[in-house]
Amino acid sequence: MKYIGAHVSAGGGVENAPVNAHEIGAKAFALFTKNQRQWVSAPLTDKSIELFKENCAKYGYLPSQILPHDSYLINLGHPEAGGLEKSRAAFLDEMQRCEQLGLDRLNFHPGSHLNQITEEESLIIVAESINQVLDKTRGVCAVIENTAGQGTNLGYKFEQLAFIIDRVEDKSRVGVCIDTCHSFTAGYDLLSEEGFKSTFSRFDEIVGFAYLKGMHINDSMKPLGSRVDRHDSIGKGFLGSEVFVRIMNDPRFDNIPLILETPDETIWNEEIALLYSMIRK
Ligand SMILES: [Zn+2]
Ligand SMILES: [Zn+2]
Repeated sequence: MKYIGAHVSAGGGVENAPVNAHEIGAKAFALFTKNQRQWVSAPLTDKSIELFKENCAKYGYLPSQILPHDSYLINLGHPEAGGLEKSRAAFLDEMQRCEQLGLDRLNFHPGSHLNQITEEESLIIVAESINQVLDKTRGVCAVIENTAGQGTNLGYKFEQLAFIIDRVEDKSRVGVCIDTCHSFTAGYDLLSEEGFKSTFSRFDEIVGFAYLKGMHINDSMKPLGSRVDRHDSIGKGFLGSEVFVRIMNDPRFDNIPLILETPDETIWNEEIALLYSMIRK
């Protein structure tokens, strides 16, 4: 079963996210459980938590169809003690919000070395951050997203994701999210049939499909290997439609949230319908 959805608004309260997802015909959704541009937000209220669970049940969303995303401010590989401490505290808060909502995974970008330490040193810090937060929480899997490698962002190679996973003590609570736009601009050719095959067989060898806990389904405004993170609507960018047809017909991408983070939210319903129409009968 393919669970396609989008990163919907949780404006007015997290309980609105499943309603917004239902309205666009989504079978999955992503959300921010707090304001993603602020370090600190008010705790979730009991009422909000209860309504979130009620609405998920009402519209048929299981935790395996929901992929919360953390704040963009967080850098778990931060080279400085102050910034690192702030990031770890904020990430712990995000994991605890997921716990409260009964969710089982939290998607985040691994971190940035900010040109102050090496990539490897920063990746080691990321792994230690994950270990510390997993120790203090239960039931929520830390889902590392691959990146385009823009600026000093880490996680643009499958090897870097594997490097982090290797150093996480509880392997049952770490996973990855593969973003199609990020993979492509990081240099993984998804355009040709051959490129698609070899990209995902390399992914399987280096990381392993067992760790795949979600996908971000985005076209790209920038070309292969550009290391720039600019999402485009499905079929409108450099990726075109073929890669999405392949994904929709590949059982390795079954039963995980497949989330659109495409720029025009007014056509998310059409994009979801389009993706479902790509499944061969
Ligand atoms: Zn993404
Ligand atoms: Zn992106």
